[in-house]
Amino acid sequence: MMTIEQIIHAITSGEKTAEQITRESLAAIAAKNAEINAFVEVFEQDALAQAKAVDEKKARGEKLGALAGVPVAIKDNILYKGHKATCCSKMLENYTASYTSTVVEKLLAADAVIIGRTNMDEFAMGSSNQTSLYGPVKNPVDTTCVPGGSSGGSAAAVAAGMVPLALGTDTGGSVRQPAGFCGVVGIKPGYGRISRYGIIAFASSADQVGVLAANVKDAAIALEVLAGKDEHDSTSLDAPVPCYAQQMTADLKGMKIGLPVGFLDGLNEAIKDKVSAAAKRLEQLGAELVEVDVPYAKYSAPCYYIITSAEASSNLGRYDGIRYGYAAQQADGLKNYYENSRAPFGLEVKKRIIIGTYALTSERYEECFLKALKVRELIRDDFKKAFEKVDVLLTPTSPTTAFKLGAQEKDPLALYLADLYTCQGNIGGLAGISVPFGKDEKGLPIGVQFYGPILKEEKILNAAYQLEKNK
Ligand code: GLN
Repeated sequence: MMTIEQIIHAITSGEKTAEQITRESLAAIAAKNAEINAFVEVFEQDALAQAKAVDEKKARGEKLGALAGVPVAIKDNILYKGHKATCCSKMLENYTASYTSTVVEKLLAADAVIIGRTNMDEFAMGSSNQTSLYGPVKNPVDTTCVPGGSSGGSAAAVAAGMVPLALGTDTGGSVRQPAGFCGVVGIKPGYGRISRYGIIAFASSADQVGVLAANVKDAAIALEVLAGKDEHDSTSLDAPVPCYAQQMTADLKGMKIGLPVGFLDGLNEAIKDKVSAAAKRLEQLGAELVEVDVPYAKYSAPCYYIITSAEASSNLGRYDGIRYGYAAQQADGLKNYYENSRAPFGLEVKKRIIIGTYALTSERYEECFLKALKVRELIRDDFKKAFEKVDVLLTPTSPTTAFKLGAQEKDPLALYLADLYTCQGNIGGLAGISVPFGKDEKGLPIGVQFYGPILKEEKILNAAYQLEKNK
């Protein structure tokens, strides 16, 4: 599949039409999706109609949008009016969006072509894309392995060359971790950079839309289209959106890159080697490496699972068969009606609801939920201090490379720890990007991650872009 940059060039120069490019994407999906299972639905007719509209716009001599004719996949928790959005859950199997999310509005306004919705872990809870109603996604690099999750379908769709761009959501790492597993670029901007309006909520204080693309420049082009204040989302930030693709090409002379103390201890050797090699390369490119201490960061995973499960238990309360979701056909009284209506949630989702409800009970509120909120502040403070000393931080994306399908089913803790390095970014509200940097001994991709402070996405894009160019 062509890159976004190439598509824009081909369309503006008249070398190809948007319709041709859309047909190429549809053909790639038709050829590969039966095996990879990245898409749960393809919007073939709508996509072709959008592509034709772009071609007509061009024929009329009108100015084309920044993503004109670019096929984009959206994760199945992003609303697009008139299309299904199911979170890959039986609970929402028959839900059709009644309005369009701000991110999809922005894609359409930029003349992109929405090609279909992608597979995900049920309600975005997971790191391996094995809990979907529509079955697991396979990693295109090695189809016996998971693609990571929860935006595994979006990452696999880009990695398999079905689309140049896909949207995901990242609550604890769900854009960056699958990007790392599949060998593509994944960026989650700082909290509030992209509107959450029309995204089905998992944990509202951590959820962020992110971008999966084949390279850093494409990710930057897409981020620029999506970022910005939205009156429908009061947590979206009112700050100017820079021209990321132009700002990220500077050399790294004088950039201070922080290496958090202890982050590589006990880590898988291949990943440790790559992160160290990336640091060395960045130094050769003119960056200054600085050790930084973020002592509370190691509590991010427990803190993350308490806070996000608590928020999930509240957000998912609306699926009661009356307001939203599956409605039981038979029940013996009201209580039983609720029980039967909520039964279709999968095991992982039920687990989170139970953990979250427990953390919020009056007996446990102080020692669990309130404590997690306090620890979150300490972690945020750690990162704030770190960014007074350095421009960005370099970390692994994940503690492992892609593992075998089914391998970690019996070890839920190992799955939770897959987000060890990424959930810090959501707890801290930071901007984070995963960029491929080499492979392990089995040929599986390794991602390295850059963190930057809120509203400084251009810095992590800059570091990632230079590393990608100088592998
Ligand atoms: N794997 C994490 C979880 O299961 C992250 C999910 C996400 O980012 N949506 O909660």
